Amino acid sequence: MSDYPDASRDVRDDDAESTSVSKSCKKVSRRTLDKIAESLNCSITEDRSPEPRSTQAVVQTEKGEYVMFTQREYNCFDDEIHAMDKKYRVWISERHIGDQSSGEEADEGIHAEMLAISFWLQGRINRPTAIGVSKSICPRCWEVLKYYGVERREQMEDNTPNWVHPSRHAGQEPPEGLSHLPQKVTKNREYDW
Ligand SMILES: [Zn+2]
Repeated sequence: MSDYPDASRDVRDDDAESTSVSKSCKKVSRRTLDKIAESLNCSITEDRSPEPRSTQAVVQTEKGEYVMFTQREYNCFDDEIHAMDKKYRVWISERHIGDQSSGEEADEGIHAEMLAISFWLQGRINRPTAIGVSKSICPRCWEVLKYYGVERREQMEDNTPNWVHPSRHAGQEPPEGLSHLPQKVTKNREYDW
């Protein structure tokens, strides 16, 4: 079982309001985080329709910071982050991109949600308490987020053909509760630990 209590109780679900304590520790609902991630995704296309080939995620940390993770980088994110800051008063302080195909930062196509968890496992961000995602979450990511007590949206029905375990990405052994998940999946072929 997880050592981390489920964070859902702490995250308010009324979308209209946000509790402003200070710029660095304001909390918005998880649904608002989803809307921000969806807006970032739609900013990629000319007509603001969803862009299905990449996923964007925005995490809220235990310290009240907001960090964006994306599988690919687009210039339009600059303006959209600014617009989201104005609209929801959410200050996205960092942006991390998982599109490095080689070298030490190679990510093997890791999902944006797992990139966020890997960054936390590596001590590069504070513990995520809630995550907004631009579309439904795949079952493996959903299970990892549940294990770590990260408030999250609904899951999609089927597994995706490619997936990378956040512990693998972080260069660590998986916790016992997540060791049944493959360390990597490539074209539906699962690689065990
Ligand atoms: Zn996933």
